[in-house]
Amino acid sequence: MLHSADSHILEPVDLWLENMPASLRDLAPQTHKEQRRGRPQEVIYVDGKVARYEPPGLQEQTRPPNAFDPVKRLEDLDSQGIWAELLFPSVGLWCSLIETREVALEAAKAYNDWQADTFLRTSPRYIGAAMIPIVDVNDAIAEVERSLGLGYPAALLPATPPVPYNDELYEPLWALLAESGMHLCMHIGTGMDPMVTRGQGGAIINYVETLFPLQRAALHLVAAGVFDRHPDLHLVCVEGGASWLPGLIERMDEAARSHADWVKPKLSRPPSEIIRTNVHATFQNDKAILLTLDVTGVPSLLWGSDYPHLEGTWPRTQQVLDDIFGDTDDDIRARITGGTMAELFGIEVPA
Ligand code: MN
Repeated sequence: MLHSADSHILEPVDLWLENMPASLRDLAPQTHKEQRRGRPQEVIYVDGKVARYEPPGLQEQTRPPNAFDPVKRLEDLDSQGIWAELLFPSVGLWCSLIETREVALEAAKAYNDWQADTFLRTSPRYIGAAMIPIVDVNDAIAEVERSLGLGYPAALLPATPPVPYNDELYEPLWALLAESGMHLCMHIGTGMDPMVTRGQGGAIINYVETLFPLQRAALHLVAAGVFDRHPDLHLVCVEGGASWLPGLIERMDEAARSHADWVKPKLSRPPSEIIRTNVHATFQNDKAILLTLDVTGVPSLLWGSDYPHLEGTWPRTQQVLDDIFGDTDDDIRARITGGTMAELFGIEVPA
């Protein structure tokens, strides 16, 4: 059975306006119909700033209709041979741009309560990633604790944080996540405006640029010794593909070896070994990663459908997987497309 480590909820348009305190109404995530660049657009605002705009009705026209409904959605999973999926926001990914402390906290609470009440309550096949506000680390810790009570096994932090992840200020947060067994997840396109350019080549440049913050986050956490101090902590890098992992591994090992006198803190193991056990990267289309399994190991790789987004594998999941994995060993394919995720999140498929 497949398990997707990268899937998305499509939130109701008024989720935050309905569920955040009235005093924060102007700064809550919300969508307005406006003219932009001479055309009608649906403009998403967060924290009073424009996060993104797109043609009206784009979401409804390009998403599988079942994806909005937690019950009907299970039929789409069945049709693809997927049992469980780790859920991330869609519009809610923009909440990572919020800079106002109270807005970040209340937006996260509204999302986490709603996801728990709708998706998580409907089926154990839905595995929730709680949105964690990071403007203030004390709020992050409080929301991790609250989310544990709501049944969340994963915490979503922005790939680009306000303060780099090698800073000691995060230490109590890493300790709490490790102690509670809650896995740390970072999704592409979070914490910075992914629209790096509107110039020549923008469509490809902006899509590829989303990879780099994930690499930086993994680099900072591994090099700062976070996984030495908290060996039970796991980082899942979501939707950035995986074939950057061997490059990062080679570069980090080279630095640790050849610049050893300057390496602080000293690491208990070469970076490659830390990454192989504690860092995971999801991909939906990445043939190249299967050529370097002796560098990355198998447990660092997770497959994700990215359902119901355009980049995803629905409705051709099995064909896409056959194309990627070709004659790869069946056991390796099964571990990457579900086995490792089942171990990480304790997923049991009924007989
Ligand atoms: Mn995704």
